[in-house]
Amino acid sequence: MPGSRAATLVLLLSLLVVVCVMQALRGPPLEGSSPPEAPPLAVPERAVDAGITRENVASADRMQSLMRRRLLIPVQGVDRAQLRDNFDEKRGGIRRHEALDIMAPRGTPVLAAGDGVIAKLSRHPLGGITIYEDDPERNYSYYYAHLDRYAPGLHVGQAVRRGEVVGYVGSTGNAPAWAPHLHFTILDLSGPARWWGRRAINPYPFLAGGSR
Ligand SMILES: [Zn+2]
Repeated sequence: MPGSRAATLVLLLSLLVVVCVMQALRGPPLEGSSPPEAPPLAVPERAVDAGITRENVASADRMQSLMRRRLLIPVQGVDRAQLRDNFDEKRGGIRRHEALDIMAPRGTPVLAAGDGVIAKLSRHPLGGITIYEDDPERNYSYYYAHLDRYAPGLHVGQAVRRGEVVGYVGSTGNAPAWAPHLHFTILDLSGPARWWGRRAINPYPFLAGGSR
């Protein structure tokens, strides 16, 4: 009967459509013909995002390790509200200051910002009486300048603890006698040294608190 044959054909076609739709809904076949692995993208690292480079990520890791040290404001009695971020100020119209000047009366104790080892004690025409204190991993050096004098007995190789008195605020070097202050910065020992010394890191965001 032509009628029932047509009906069977329609039924078969419908079944075929249903099976196809179900296959499509199940997604790609599970076994056998998995699609070939996409080749790795040959995008140059710097082209992915101009801000994300291996150097920047390594630098961010170092910044976090510095943040974890919870560095102390290295002048006794000075709290965060009294700090001014003058790291980027131009000095002498030529170069950036690259340090914080922390104003305090002459003779105020200067405290180790973090645990470390006294790496160098020097007198400098600009910095005056100075201390370089390396952190325990020797990633950074804390630099204290314009000191009036050192703490008694302070010597190279001495281990100091965060908050220990290492010297006293003064105006040696090129600081005006009427404005004694501590010139403080953090030097990055991990990067390449520049012709005038190590790259300076702004201590301002890292100084967690003061000591009274
Ligand atoms: Zn300064």
